[in-house]
Amino acid sequence: MTGWLAVAGLGPGAEALITPEVQAALDTATDIVGYILYVARIAPRPGLTLHPSDNRVELERARAALALAAAGRRVVIVSSGDPGVFAMASALFEALDGAPAPGFDIRILPGITAMLAAAAALGAPLGHDFCAINLSDNLKPWALIERRLRLAAQADFAIAFYNPRSKSRPEGFARALDILREECGPDRLISFARAVSTPDQALATVTLAEARPDMADMRTVVILGNSATRRAGPWVYTPRSAA
Ligand code: SAH
Repeated sequence: MTGWLAVAGLGPGAEALITPEVQAALDTATDIVGYILYVARIAPRPGLTLHPSDNRVELERARAALALAAAGRRVVIVSSGDPGVFAMASALFEALDGAPAPGFDIRILPGITAMLAAAAALGAPLGHDFCAINLSDNLKPWALIERRLRLAAQADFAIAFYNPRSKSRPEGFARALDILREECGPDRLISFARAVSTPDQALATVTLAEARPDMADMRTVVILGNSATRRAGPWVYTPRSAA
């Protein structure tokens, strides 16, 4: 039996936002590998083995998935959103880097990443140039986060923030908001999009002056507008032209 390995994005939560390509891979897989909360989104069925693992073991998880595929299994590593955005696809290539080319097929299957689902729910806050910053300092020093934050704000990008806040580092997001207030002033719009596309979805848009750290948690993606971002009724959008 020929094994294969796919790294698939499950989208932000709603089943309707799983691509047909990802669904087809899930339907033909023998093994699902990934973080517990993401594997929990896969319905069990006969012939399918689920391999949930803890969050911080990405490289081990990638190696285990490679070993399964090498043994002839059809393996899907699942990520939320898109697997190439702060997720498992890079970990897989790190595990492969320098090793002999595997004798089975490897595919990365894109998904709808949190910032795009959030932007659509809010209106069109990413309608002009934007960037994405992961606020987790698990894998990079805080000084680098702060430098990117400042320079992106100075360049007037709209910015999507992933992993804004967690119990293990509650003070980082407060510091990020202070920096943004310094760089962008009090009137800039900032949106908090929680659990987008799930029954728990919650959206809020406020000014930087009104923004508080506890408006975000680990299920929130935060979108800062650029200097032209404005409201249109219940919506938030960024015009396509810059003055
Ligand atoms: N690969 C994922 C991101 C993983 S990092 C993707 O492409 O979306 C995890 C972070 O993604 C969370 O802390 C949160 O900031 C964001 N996120 C993931 N799903 C989300 C959702 N449904 N609603 C809001 N934010 C979400």
